[in-house]
Formats: sequence, structure tokens, C-alpha cells
Amino acid sequence: MITKTNPEEFIKNMPKVELHLHLEGAFTIESLFDLINKYGGVSGISNVGSLEEKFQFRDFSHFIETWCWKNDFFREAEDFEYTIYHTMKNLHEQSIVYVEAFYSPWDFAPSGISAPAITEAIIEAVKKAKTDFGICCQLIADISRDVGADSSVERFRQVLPYRNEGIIGIGLGGSEQKFPNELFADVFKEAKKEGLHLVAHAGEAAGPESVWSALEVLEAERIGHGVRAIEDPILMKKLKTDQVPMEICVNSNLKTGIFLSLEKHPVKSFFNEGLNITINSDDPTMFGKTLTDEFIYLHQRDVFSLHDLKTITLNAVNASFLNDEQKKSLGDKVEDYWTRNNV
Ligand SMILES: [Zn+2]
Repeated sequence: MITKTNPEEFIKNMPKVELHLHLEGAFTIESLFDLINKYGGVSGISNVGSLEEKFQFRDFSHFIETWCWKNDFFREAEDFEYTIYHTMKNLHEQSIVYVEAFYSPWDFAPSGISAPAITEAIIEAVKKAKTDFGICCQLIADISRDVGADSSVERFRQVLPYRNEGIIGIGLGGSEQKFPNELFADVFKEAKKEGLHLVAHAGEAAGPESVWSALEVLEAERIGHGVRAIEDPILMKKLKTDQVPMEICVNSNLKTGIFLSLEKHPVKSFFNEGLNITINSDDPTMFGKTLTDEFIYLHQRDVFSLHDLKTITLNAVNASFLNDEQKKSLGDKVEDYWTRNNV
């Protein structure tokens, strides 16, 4: 029996739900290494270890540079299918049972692969992984602020035909200050009309006003990050009253410098104030922390007890876009783990 005396093992085996993960930042190092070799290799990267070292970032511009560097090895639709299948396997090995994952096919436009081709490859990988490992993943197309607001409706229409094959919503990531939410009101309106779910990164690089507009202009159902809401007491009150789900990614915020230390991060205040928070990994490979690592990190530093992590997992079940019956079944799976382990 796994007990609290071995919390790391307990957390690793705990059924978990991931609501804020970008597939482009969640490849396994091994699968990227295979792609690099497929395209002739890179000098200095002779094994998985040396590739892993490449992902030790000096600063934020080095992070962006490395992000673009690795994207260059995704040159055919089958590269997405291959790597994402392995990502799903990795998530399954962490006992993640349900995922709502972002993908941004327009970031790969320089490779000449179309958004529909990437979408089909990802759907294929996700289906295969479900058959092989039982992990369920639904997709949220990130409209990508930086690609531009003018063509955002057109981008949305490229993925709309796949809504019955695993695309459940749209998201909005990228430069929050340079491309504010208001510019994307039309595409969110159209997505809502088509019955898709709406989420947006807000209150990460930009301040509380971005969370306000994500809620009021975009009508986002969940907020990605939202951590800078801490600067606005009226917004904090609204988030609590409305129980708006917040997709918190602590190590991502620490790595990108939104907060300089865990002590300064508001995750604990959000939880104590009664906000509806979930814990997520954002770009696990890029930031070097899986969802399991994230949970262990917060537990070992006395931010959250094991029981708090159960509450947070059940928050994620309820904040997911599953139907009531599916939520009940997923919630039962979480409860059952705790009952079986007598915790
Ligand atoms: Zn994100």
C-alpha cells in the first residue's frame, strides 16, 4: 500500500488531470532526439543527455531561441503524430488520466505544413494513445496572438471542421501586452456561436486588466495563469464569487520571471482565499518540470498538503469541459484512489 510516508510515490500514482499544457512544449526529449537524427543530426548533440543540456536556459531570450530551434525539427505532419503519441505515453506514465491540451499549428507555418494537416496528425496520435494507454486528451486550438488579430477568424475556421474529432475549444496565448484581448473579440464570439469552449491566457505578463477583459470581452470560461489578479482586490472578489477556474502554472511563472521566488507567488493566497485553482505544467519539457514534479515541488515546500492536492485535482475535474457524467466518473476515480490507500 502506498501511504503518506512515501508522498512522492503517492503523488506519482495519484490520478491527475492536466488542463493547461502546450503540446509544443511537452514533447519527450527522446522523441525530439529521434526527429533531430531523422533530419541528419546536429553537431554537439550526440545523445539524449546532450539534448537535455540544450534545454538549460540562461535567460528568457535563450528560452525563446531554443523554442524556435526545436520547432524547426517538426517538418512533416507525421513528426507531430510521432512525438505527440510519446507525449501521451509519458503523461499516462505519470498517472495523468485526462488532459485538455493546447496546440498552435500556425507556429509551424515556416515549415509549410498546413494547420489542418497538423490537426489531423495530432488527432491520430491522441486516438492511438487512447487505445494503447487509456489516456483521454481533448484539444484546444491556441489562436496565437502573435500571428496577428486580423487573420484570427480565418485561422479558427481552419480547425473548426475538426470539432467533432477532439477539438473542444479555442485558447489565446502569446504576447498579452502587445496583442491585447480586445483584438480577438470577433474570433471568440464566432467560436462561442459555434458551441466551442473559450479559454485565454491572461494576467500573466499583463496586469489584472487583462483578466477583466478575458472575462468580460472574450467571455473566457477559464483563465490561463491569472496570477496578477492578486494586484486587484475587486477582481479577486469576482474570481472567488464566480468560482472562475484558474489554470495556475507555478514553475512556468518562476522560470519566465513573472515572480522571482515561490514565496512571492500568489498560489497559496489564491487557494486560501477560496479561488478555484488548478495546478498545471504549461510547457513541461521546456521548463523541466512535469505535472508530477509540480505537485511534488509544492508539497515538499509545504505549500500544499496531500489533501489540498486532492482538492486541487477535483477542482480540475470540475473545471474540465467534460460532461457531467464523465466528470462524475473521473471524480470517482480520484476518490477511489484515496479510499484504496486509506489516506
Ligand atoms: Zn500556457
